[in-house]
Amino acid sequence: MNFIETRGNDGSRPASVSFSHAILNPMASFGGLYVPEKLPALGEAFLQQHIDSDYKTLARAVLEAFEPDIDSDTLDRALARYDDFDDPAQPVPVVRVSDELFVSELYHGPTRAFKDMALQPFGVVLSTLAQARGENYLILAATSGDTGPATLETFKNQANVKVACLYPDGGTSDVQRLQMVTEDAPNLKVIGIHGAFDDAQTALKALLSSDAFHARLAGKHTRLSAANSVNFGRIIFQQIYHIHSYLELVRQGAITIGDKVYLNVPSGNFGNALGGYYAMKMGLPVEKILISSNSNNVLTDWIHTGRYQLRDRKVLTTSSPAMDILKSSNVERILFDLFGAQRTRELMASLDTEGGYQLSGEELARLQAVFAADFASDEEVETAIRETFEQRGYLMDPHTATCLKAHASCRDKALPDIVYSTAEWTKFSPTIAHALTGESDAHDIDALRSISETAKLSIPSMIAELFDRPIAQSTVIDKRDIEKEVLSFI
Ligand SMILES: *Cc1c(COP(=O)(O)O)cnc(C)c1O
Repeated sequence: MNFIETRGNDGSRPASVSFSHAILNPMASFGGLYVPEKLPALGEAFLQQHIDSDYKTLARAVLEAFEPDIDSDTLDRALARYDDFDDPAQPVPVVRVSDELFVSELYHGPTRAFKDMALQPFGVVLSTLAQARGENYLILAATSGDTGPATLETFKNQANVKVACLYPDGGTSDVQRLQMVTEDAPNLKVIGIHGAFDDAQTALKALLSSDAFHARLAGKHTRLSAANSVNFGRIIFQQIYHIHSYLELVRQGAITIGDKVYLNVPSGNFGNALGGYYAMKMGLPVEKILISSNSNNVLTDWIHTGRYQLRDRKVLTTSSPAMDILKSSNVERILFDLFGAQRTRELMASLDTEGGYQLSGEELARLQAVFAADFASDEEVETAIRETFEQRGYLMDPHTATCLKAHASCRDKALPDIVYSTAEWTKFSPTIAHALTGESDAHDIDALRSISETAKLSIPSMIAELFDRPIAQSTVIDKRDIEKEVLSFI
């Protein structure tokens, strides 16, 4: 299957490219993204066929439907990464919280956040492609806390790929910082920046678009790629767990094949939600996809009114920091799928130059046929965490907890709702401890212990060990010095 561009073709690039090309060179014409030319039709026969398949077997079948130009052995090695999850036979458990609320736990990988679902296999694919071509790649990542650890973990000691990861010093949780600064491998560099996440992100964007920087890298025989969710190599792995979760509900007797469900996604850059959208288009019986946000509710407004508005908005700091995003990159792939390349280019240009755009009434109706949305304040998130724990005995992280608002407000029909849990409680323990016991300003280690006691949950070893591991990465610099630091690492 080939890949085409969301904003059309500029004549200087090929009009359609292979999967491996789209992975290694994720930036398309006019600043657009790559999307599959046509989605495979899986339908109910596919669901019937995979009712008893384990996760890797299902994953293999979904990937093969895309006919990627990746050999069979590489796909096997990529999917083998799921063997390192808590339970290799069930990397994504789906927990029934009530008759209409199921939680699909996407966080059982090495860094305890859902980024592992895509980045773990993606790391194998990218490194293998780079080796086959005899090319060296640099992955630059800026992180507010979850992408960084997952990117470092997947590329650790992988040939032909180096990772430089920028994080705001003091702007992440203790656990997230330790996950990064205790990573010790010659191909990894972790760089703390004096400033906020936005500063790290802005510095990164400036480097990515600097011709001089590209030229200096070329002088060191290194190319730039990207491991964020603009890369379709991540999205392809994010469709599988939506199909898996549906089949789990069938296996648990909650639905029969063909019944519709809601998917409820805590959203930032919209990669997770896009995976659900593609799964629905490939034939998964989905009533609607519920898009849950925190107070950075630009997506809620977009789905309610058709207006995507960045002007006069500032990113707010919330208790679900991985969703503190205003410019949600994968929305572009939805625009393309619904309205085509010409309109997508027009809308994205308006977003860049005017700081926003307005969909027509007819376009909005098409958007609302698929999506509904709501957002939760930090206070509502804490209440949701506390009540779900006290009434149902189920503990969720703040990102997951944003979904309970849409669960209550967005379902017109009494159908089961699959909420995607994107992080383990261990990653955002101070917020959760505050929700459960009222204690505030706890350090992660104290909050972890107190939750562990209250909820009778043990702290997983990869988190507990972090506090005793030696610090391997101690660089903290001014943002003006990032380029120099990265080049000396290469
Ligand atoms: C990345 C992340 C999200 C947002 O996912 P998108 O695919 O960017 O919408 C939500 N929750 C957590 C914990 C994350 O790490």
